[in-house]
Amino acid sequence: MPLPNSAAAPPPAVAVLGGGAAGFFGAIACAEANPQQLVYLLEKSPKLLSKVRISGGGRCNVTHACESAAQLVQHYPRGGRQLKEAFRQFGVADTIAWFAERGVVLKTEADGRMFPTTDSSETIARALEDAAHRAGVRVLARTAADEIMALPEGGFSLRLSGEGSAAIGPELRVGRLLVATGGNPKSAAYDWLRALGHSIAEPVPSLFTFNVPASPLRELPGVSVQLARVVLAGEKLQYEGPLLVTHWGVSGPAVLKLSAWGARRLHELGYHGTALISWVPTYTDDTLRAWAHAYRLDNGKKQVAAHPQFGLPTRLWRTLVAEAGIGPEARWNEVPAKAQNRLLELLLRTPLQVQGKTTHKDEFVTCGGIPLNEVNLTTMESRRVSGLHFAGEVLDIDGITGGFNFQAAWTTGFLAGQAIAKVAQPVS
Ligand SMILES: Cc1cc2nc3c(=O)[nH]c(=O)nc-3n(C[C@H](O)[C@H](O)[C@H](O)COP(=O)(O)OP(=O)(O)OC[C@H]3O[C@@H](n4cnc5c(N)ncnc54)[C@H](O)[C@@H]3O)c2cc1C
Repeated sequence: MPLPNSAAAPPPAVAVLGGGAAGFFGAIACAEANPQQLVYLLEKSPKLLSKVRISGGGRCNVTHACESAAQLVQHYPRGGRQLKEAFRQFGVADTIAWFAERGVVLKTEADGRMFPTTDSSETIARALEDAAHRAGVRVLARTAADEIMALPEGGFSLRLSGEGSAAIGPELRVGRLLVATGGNPKSAAYDWLRALGHSIAEPVPSLFTFNVPASPLRELPGVSVQLARVVLAGEKLQYEGPLLVTHWGVSGPAVLKLSAWGARRLHELGYHGTALISWVPTYTDDTLRAWAHAYRLDNGKKQVAAHPQFGLPTRLWRTLVAEAGIGPEARWNEVPAKAQNRLLELLLRTPLQVQGKTTHKDEFVTCGGIPLNEVNLTTMESRRVSGLHFAGEVLDIDGITGGFNFQAAWTTGFLAGQAIAKVAQPVS
């Protein structure tokens, strides 16, 4: 096959940068929609789909059972509102169908997360690799695009490095380029996109857990509750969900949601602040006081520490009781009003001094990237550089945990690939 490196008319090939979820989806969508089209998929590392492979604890949380685009967008701290139309074009049902057509059946867990029935991310990686192979995508690992130049006559010149580039030489000229290079919390990692004429929403990490070195809960690693509320004191940030006490602090969906929606603010605060935990989020000050009054009347002779309430784990309940200054043997009718009030306060607002963060091992993403107002969200084409498209985490889109980040990668990759297939010149 002749190489598409002609210096004359706009070159015909398409290059996709980044062999991750968005890059594979984009390359496959383009090649399937236009079988005549020569599509290169360039991945700088030796391993293709590396994040897919480690995702979801090795199970790959592919998407999330959401019935409508309107429901789906609510799970994106950045990008959701703008992506509503894109999700209508290619949403959760399309993802399920796409994988089913390629022999991969997804199942839904009780919390809405969707995984392959094999519970193995390898199933997803193989389906993507097979589909790319069948569609004729030329996949090159160990091939990095180090420099990209927009050509005056249209199209792009890519300066390549890495062993894989030996197959096509040090320069690749293409008519259209899909950038799906993923997120990166370092601002300098986006300099090459700035050089192409884009601005960058400053990248900061999202989806992290809180470090609480002096936590009153430090003796309780592994203890979890099904529903807690986490509030960042002094801020308008509060989220509910399961909460897990870790060796370093606190984690679990409630904390991760707060870290995602508050990613920028927490970055400004240097990841320092007071997190207030309500272990009884369905209660207010008034209703909890009323509960205590009634409970004490009926159960005055019961030892406080010995009878955990609200379904809280025994160790947690005992820790809160001790923190309130109530002795291990004390009975409800012996507890002074001050100590009882302290217990109620701890149930509603246990203060944890957050000092730093730990990146969530199961899923972390970058908040920031290519601003969405610089992209046509139907074709994912840059509004600044003709022929340049974006997909996946390189865009200023990120979701909370639960399969939302992959869904954004599938959606944006698919729309970009289809749009490129429509306009790119087929190889003659
Ligand atoms: C441990 C972990 C687990 C996760 N689990 C889940 C999950 O279960 N569900 C979910 O929805 N989300 C999950 N996520 C988030 C999800 O993996 C990402 O949002 C998603 O992979 C983004 O896809 P992408 O294709 O945009 O980027 P990436 O997957 O990061 O792929 C980008 C690729 O581009 C390559 N690249 C970069 N620069 C160049 C260049 N110049 N030339 C060539 N190649 C280049 C990179 O090497 C990389 O392979 C997880 C994330 C992590 C870190």
